[in-house]
Amino acid sequence: LKAHLIFTGTELLLGQIVNTNAQYLASKLAELGIDLYSMVTVGDNRGRIAEAIKAAQGKSELIIINGGLGPTEDDVTREALADALDLELKETPQALEVCTRYFKKRGLPMPEANRKLGLVPLGGMVLDNACGTAPGILLRHDDTIYVLLPGPPNELTAMFEKEVIPYLQKEGKLSSEIKSRVLKVVGLGEPVVEEKVKDLIGSSNPTLAPTVKMGEVHLRITAKSADPADNQAMLDEMEQKIRERLGDYIFGVDDCTLEEAVGRELKKLKYTIAMAESCTGGLLTHRLTNIPGSSGYVQLGAVTYANRWKTRLLHVGPEILAAHGAVSPETARAMAVGIRELTGADIAIGITGIAGPGGATETKPVGLVYIGLDYLGKVEVFKHQFVGERKTIKYLSSQAALTHLWQRLKQYK
Ligand code: ATP
Ligand code: MG
Repeated sequence: LKAHLIFTGTELLLGQIVNTNAQYLASKLAELGIDLYSMVTVGDNRGRIAEAIKAAQGKSELIIINGGLGPTEDDVTREALADALDLELKETPQALEVCTRYFKKRGLPMPEANRKLGLVPLGGMVLDNACGTAPGILLRHDDTIYVLLPGPPNELTAMFEKEVIPYLQKEGKLSSEIKSRVLKVVGLGEPVVEEKVKDLIGSSNPTLAPTVKMGEVHLRITAKSADPADNQAMLDEMEQKIRERLGDYIFGVDDCTLEEAVGRELKKLKYTIAMAESCTGGLLTHRLTNIPGSSGYVQLGAVTYANRWKTRLLHVGPEILAAHGAVSPETARAMAVGIRELTGADIAIGITGIAGPGGATETKPVGLVYIGLDYLGKVEVFKHQFVGERKTIKYLSSQAALTHLWQRLKQYK
């Protein structure tokens, strides 16, 4: 299958936004074994979009046109397609339904301008939009498949994955199917992870590729086969091999987050948790409470930023603060123990550190963070030295706390 891409948007031509959709679609097509011959960008102009469509005709069997499906004046892609193919636009209930459903869900009236989202060139098929208002359109005409997809990246990716790929698959347009699975690792650095799976990284089908992401190592397994069942088997087999080597360092698969994995363990073990956070400003509690059902284990998250409150709420001794400072192993320990005593939680975490850019001293650089963990009375303190801007240090601190907790949950139960 040969493909051609057309991107619409004056913003793209003016350099106001980066064409990230081009990168997404190009890499997806490559994964699917579809040959992308060329791509062009045109402004929001009905005549020029129609011209670009005509120019691509006869050269590619798949022409994807991205952007300009919205309700505003400059959204003219569906009109341009109708012009290029000399087809009539017809109001289609199924298309309008995608849009009305969006507003109904939010309890809002649908603006009159959105009625035009119900227009589809004669013979076109409606593609559902799970994240926005504009339906996509797929039209087969003279041995060519035309696909109209929305501009907002989240809408584009959802529609491409949920509507377009399954359609191409069903129509037998894909020579092989690609499936991937990501195994997520914490507590081991990338070099160590790579060392453990070095021989597997050399495999060609399925392939295995490690990437590093904010304190996690992700191992992406990708299998390619004409038969979906083969893919499944290849993924399972590779996952099994990796699990034998990395065991509990793997906390989740695909979309699973570390906070979700930790939450699942806490729930399983029927443990409760409390956090006393200084430099993370509540980020750890925020991440844990992003998980539905976290009210079953999260007791309290206290942001004890000022020393006065570390003392008043957590009973961190003033002599500890005076002798060692707020950013010290002693304070981290006292914070964890203090919040555990205050709440009676099974597990407690105290975090204190220097997020920067100011606040560093000779002996305490920016990024120095101590994490205290009181696990059923067993108390440990972990020291970290992170590098990065303020937000990165806050995030990595919350990530490290979750990592230590994950490891102890797996180790002690
Ligand atoms: P809407 O219903 O939001 O108007 P649309 O289908 O009409 O969507 P556009 O108006 O072309 O799409 O683009 C909407 C927004 O989507 C743009 O402002 C831009 O932020 C983003 N966008 C559009 N095209 C691209 C692209 N190729 N790469 C990255 N972002 C894009
Ligand atoms: Mg628009």
